[in-house]
Amino acid sequence: MKNIDILIIGAGISGCVLAERYASIGRKVLVIEKRNHIGGNCYDFIDENGILVSKYGAHLFHTCDESVWRYVNRFSDWYPWEHKVIAKVDGKNVPIPVNITTVNELFNLNLTGEEEMQTWLEENRTPIAEPSNGEEAVLNRVGNLLYEKMFKHYTKKQWDKYPAELDASVLERIPVRTNFDDRYFSDPCQALPDGGYTQLFKNMLDHPNIKVLLETDYFDVKQSYNNYHKLFYTGPIDRYFEFKHSLVQKLEYRSINFVSETIDAAYFQENSVVNYPGTEVDFTRIIEYKHFGNQKSEKTTIVKEFTIDEGEPYYPVPNPNNQEIYTRYKQESEKLVDVHFVGRLANYKYFNMDQAFKNALDLFEELQQNKTVLKTA
Ligand code: UDP
Repeated sequence: MKNIDILIIGAGISGCVLAERYASIGRKVLVIEKRNHIGGNCYDFIDENGILVSKYGAHLFHTCDESVWRYVNRFSDWYPWEHKVIAKVDGKNVPIPVNITTVNELFNLNLTGEEEMQTWLEENRTPIAEPSNGEEAVLNRVGNLLYEKMFKHYTKKQWDKYPAELDASVLERIPVRTNFDDRYFSDPCQALPDGGYTQLFKNMLDHPNIKVLLETDYFDVKQSYNNYHKLFYTGPIDRYFEFKHSLVQKLEYRSINFVSETIDAAYFQENSVVNYPGTEVDFTRIIEYKHFGNQKSEKTTIVKEFTIDEGEPYYPVPNPNNQEIYTRYKQESEKLVDVHFVGRLANYKYFNMDQAFKNALDLFEELQQNKTVLKTA
């Protein structure tokens, strides 16, 4: 493709949004993607059991942002899906986020409403005015009993760090409920795309102005594609700068080893996601994909998630140390003209899918309006 206007590295949410937006105003867009598929970590496919599964873990869309909701509805129909998660604790299956049922089940109580739950929390929590890390955040919300049972070891397995070594925001992603609401999220729009995420991204990229180059590592072909008006980079920020600020200590990421099994039975577990917050197993959770959209199949596919240090980077690890290293890269990135860092890995931020859509849409608008250029969302 000659005369590229817009070069985009990575075909995940951020890359696809920017490709779609620029193509729609007549720009020629080239997307370079290292993997052999589009969609980033949202990529899904029909497996050998005829079930729509996600290659990189379950992706549950939820938003309270109307503009994002309108945008994603342009590329797919969506069906309502309110995600629920069960945690296996002390041999019992209890709802997470913590709600009245969780406390009743785990402590053999019979709390019947908000007031009694508030009282239980007041008696059990350790008030901390401004929690400075994940442990303080959980102790402040629910206290030590639930911290030990549901958060401490899960977090260690997920991050290879205890909650005290992580920002409060990580553990504050999950609410605590004083009622019986057992939904994982509270946003007004909670839905899954009919036909899956891969199809959604295909539809976004289906434009004569967009070309996608799969199985191509940008850093291998960089010299051949240095003629563009704007570059959007969505990969890990330290890789872009050849890890120059990571010589003493690396910017950390967590990866996941997804171990898939076919079970010769209609169902394996009662819910799409069952978390294992204890130390009895090494994995964090088991996903059974056929629950999503109530898919029908003779057998079932389950996937155990083991998080690991090495491997493809999925999660930035939010804590002060990593933030400091990231800041050095960010300062470098701000010196570049017409190169923009966008998305979870390039911004080194642990944000949700709707925020990824929003950040990319906002960046496009910002650049179009010739306002102060935002290089990081
Ligand atoms: N978490 C936990 N116990 C659980 C579920 C989550 O301690 O049963 C903590 C853990 O530190 C996790 C964080 O809460 O990383 C955020 O959970 P979320 O479900 O948002 O993680 P994601 O789905 O993005 O992996």
